[in-house]
Amino acid sequence: MSTPGEERVRWRPEPIVERVEAGPERVRVYEVSPRDGLQAEAAIVPARTKVELCRRLAAAGLRDVEVTSFVPPSWIPQMSDAEDVLTALGHQDGVRTVALVPNRRGLERARAAGARDVAVVVSATESFARANLNAARDAALDTATGVVGAAREHGLGVRGYVSMAFGDPWEGPVDRGVVAGMAAALAQAGCSTVALGDTIGVANPGQIHRTVRAVTAAGVPAEAVALHLHDTYGQALANVVAGLDAGVREFDSSVGGLGRCPYARGATGNLATEDLVWLLHGMGIETGADLDALVGVSRWISARIGRAESCSRVTTALIAAAGQ
Ligand code: MG
Repeated sequence: MSTPGEERVRWRPEPIVERVEAGPERVRVYEVSPRDGLQAEAAIVPARTKVELCRRLAAAGLRDVEVTSFVPPSWIPQMSDAEDVLTALGHQDGVRTVALVPNRRGLERARAAGARDVAVVVSATESFARANLNAARDAALDTATGVVGAAREHGLGVRGYVSMAFGDPWEGPVDRGVVAGMAAALAQAGCSTVALGDTIGVANPGQIHRTVRAVTAAGVPAEAVALHLHDTYGQALANVVAGLDAGVREFDSSVGGLGRCPYARGATGNLATEDLVWLLHGMGIETGADLDALVGVSRWISARIGRAESCSRVTTALIAAAGQ
């Protein structure tokens, strides 16, 4: 109880930790803001700002960062500085920097720029394959597995994405047998992790459970499955909990919730890293991330791209609580 005249010290909000029984000790947070976040911004962000963002994310404790994409500049002009970003970043101890490569040409560019880890993308639906990958679905899978094989031959680590793994804006619900088959093909080709993308944010926990189960039944171990969730309908954190329950140990997120899908109408931001980290730390799960530092990065990049505020609920709440 405070005595008269004494200023009451206000509690500085932080996750109240209640460890969940049988939950994992640690989860990998895979940060996608420099690539997936900034490619969706209308404005072209200078390469030096991207490099600074990557450095700040690493300083905030993130150890897996997707830093750029070697797509043809005519597809996504925001990523036309991929060489500059990767070269300027160099290799940072303890931080895995991943570059997206859509095809063989992208892989060659990434290798020439010194990439050690790359990511490939396929689509579980025909419509999105044609819109996003400029190819039929099966042809895109052939291209991707070919790129994975070539990357592995050169000693690179490879991550695979299955986009539109839950719902598609043109086709509706997605056949989880197709998702499982594609995930298995990517894993067999040499991907160490396959991320299932809820590209438009329509997944729900029941769907997460069943789809992860279908993927593991197809031969991909749960520890090799990641979830790339969007928060369009406010379901992303519920889906993280469902994913944890299903054995998933890696989740994609973007600081400040940066990024929407430029090809999928109506898709809003990625799950915000601050919100994911608040949830995981509250569940007693280690991430290595420093939440306060992440809030700082979120505010910094939001200001750089002209956003009045971060799209992260946690960052917004912490700023309000601090009276700033
Ligand atoms: Mg995304």
